[in-house]
Amino acid sequence: MDLKGKIREIQDFPKEGISFKDVTTLLADGEAYAYAIDKMLASVEDVEFDVVLGPEARGFLIGAPIAYAARKAFVPVRKPGKLPYETYRFEYELEYGTDVLEIHKDAIKPGARVLIADDLLATGGTVESIIRMVEEFGAEVVGCVFLIELSFLNGREKLGGCRAESLVYY
Ligand code: AMP
Repeated sequence: MDLKGKIREIQDFPKEGISFKDVTTLLADGEAYAYAIDKMLASVEDVEFDVVLGPEARGFLIGAPIAYAARKAFVPVRKPGKLPYETYRFEYELEYGTDVLEIHKDAIKPGARVLIADDLLATGGTVESIIRMVEEFGAEVVGCVFLIELSFLNGREKLGGCRAESLVYY
């Protein structure tokens, strides 16, 4: 299936010079969405994980169905002020700015094997900071899955050799 053909590209969003990869057009096609999730899960079928961790908001759209299909736990990483219980807070960098994320303090158990799932790997700043955060919990990131990878940004280099799989490359 031509997944790239299902992704809409919006130039200069959210700011000039950024070619935004809009996955809503892929999600709007039920067959394409299911195919992408199945393929992402298959790409890490040899990886043993306990929990899928997805950053807000598009990481939920990718991570939750992967967790469901694998019958594993899903843990949301959220924007500040959204989680009701005690949180651990960390800063991260985007292709177009800086931001802060939070996770529930008890969401990741020491020794947990974590799979990070997101729609897109750009500079790698988000995932790099999540990997560090997971390690501070005494857990381990055993893999990362992305729908899209902007390979020209070399974000992969920031993942410290962590196993990373992407379906569509730009
Ligand atoms: P990064 O931390 O630079 O790897 O950025 C990854 C996050 O930013 C992902 O969660 C994406 O949702 C978002 N993002 C960054 N660049 C783009 C882009 N060109 N198109 C769509 N989303 C992007």
